[in-house]
Amino acid sequence: MKLTFLGTGTSMGVPVAGGFGKRFPSGDSRDDRYRTSAWIQTDETSIVIDTGPEFRLQTLRSGIKHIDMVLYTHHHTDHIAGIDDLRPFCYMQKTSIPAYTTRECQEFIHRRFDYMFGSGKTPGSVNLDLNVIEEPLQFRDCTITPLPVDHNSVPVIGFRINDLSYVTDAKIIPEKTKELIRGSKVLVLNGLRWEPDHPTHFTIPQAVELATELEIPMTYLVHISGYVLHAEVSPKLPDHVRLAYDQLSVDL
Ligand SMILES: [Zn+2]
Ligand SMILES: [Zn+2]
Repeated sequence: MKLTFLGTGTSMGVPVAGGFGKRFPSGDSRDDRYRTSAWIQTDETSIVIDTGPEFRLQTLRSGIKHIDMVLYTHHHTDHIAGIDDLRPFCYMQKTSIPAYTTRECQEFIHRRFDYMFGSGKTPGSVNLDLNVIEEPLQFRDCTITPLPVDHNSVPVIGFRINDLSYVTDAKIIPEKTKELIRGSKVLVLNGLRWEPDHPTHFTIPQAVELATELEIPMTYLVHISGYVLHAEVSPKLPDHVRLAYDQLSVDL
């Protein structure tokens, strides 16, 4: 299995439009961050997690040619805004693309992108077979388990795919979900900034604490703000936690 980070940035991306954010630019390409998204490849399948605003650019940059499934963590714009850019994949693959998410996100996508669904579907729009996932699902060589987490009252799911657990936009991870994550070889976890505390996201020290508690051999942090510079923060992390960066690939 191969995990590629398509993007590792927080909701505004890094650098931010208009030059907002005084810490940027750093001159280190690892500090350029498209919105958080990932690509999982196995012998039998190609799965994308979230399709944010830079999804078209991410597919071109990482060379994605085929998508068998899309997993949506939640309905926030930084995770779904690029949904229309699944169209060329539907055209090339000549079939609908299965997708899985929460019930709330399914309803939101049906509402916001109503032209893609039902009797009023616009010809040529994305053919997405959008389902709710509440139980583990076997898809080819992947066992996909939803990981419910709390993003300050917004329900979000992460996904465990075989030995990889992927959790973004979490502030609280319930004990039941921690049990589902335990035993993973790699954990992806949101870590917004070093400080101060944030109402909807883990800070980096909070993410490190959780990664340590769960005894995961390697954790990669994503959904990172422009105030976090690799050269400054990486030396402060323990050996089992790293800052992810765009286009980093990890073999599991
Ligand atoms: Zn987000
Ligand atoms: Zn969010």
